[in-house]
Amino acid sequence: MLLPSTDLFLRLVAENELEKRRFHQWVFNPGMLFRTVEKWWDESSARGIPHEGLDVAAFLTRGGQVEWLLPQTRIPAAYNGTIARIQKDFLGFSCFLRHDQFQRGDRFLYSVYGHIEPLASRHEGDTIAVGEILGTLADTARRNSPIRPHLHFSLAWISSAVPEQTLNWETMNDPDAVILIDPLALLTGAFSVMY
Ligand SMILES: [Zn+2]
Repeated sequence: MLLPSTDLFLRLVAENELEKRRFHQWVFNPGMLFRTVEKWWDESSARGIPHEGLDVAAFLTRGGQVEWLLPQTRIPAAYNGTIARIQKDFLGFSCFLRHDQFQRGDRFLYSVYGHIEPLASRHEGDTIAVGEILGTLADTARRNSPIRPHLHFSLAWISSAVPEQTLNWETMNDPDAVILIDPLALLTGAFSVMY
């Protein structure tokens, strides 16, 4: 099945009034991209496993400056979905959304939002409409992490044989259970990569 693109990038700009910060386009460095083994926050070491998604952390202003996302940045859902799992990760929580409307064989599409603080009103089993706010970016400084606040965004076809209560970053790296997708292939909106 051909997947429709998501306007998550545009919704992030609108929900967080990034125009007021002179938003021009999203910017990534190689360590933020899908399948990279580089770390964008530490050039002296590599990721233990290839990156399962995209790290959304910064944008370019119309003046060409790099601006970083702030803690409390509001994170909208990329598609209509159901909250399948909310799980602690090393910077905050990861929210796994299942999208029943996108099915391939025995697999459903999931989008995953890592390093966020889910709103108190969000619970596993809740139905979420596209654009509704799931939570806000975790404040990494409060965890004494040198990593700037960022949204880790993954898209994946996950087998319905995987119990949702077992969804975590370990299962996301099980190639039998999970087929990862490059999020940049489906995100609408301009971006650049800085090497
Ligand atoms: Zn990431």
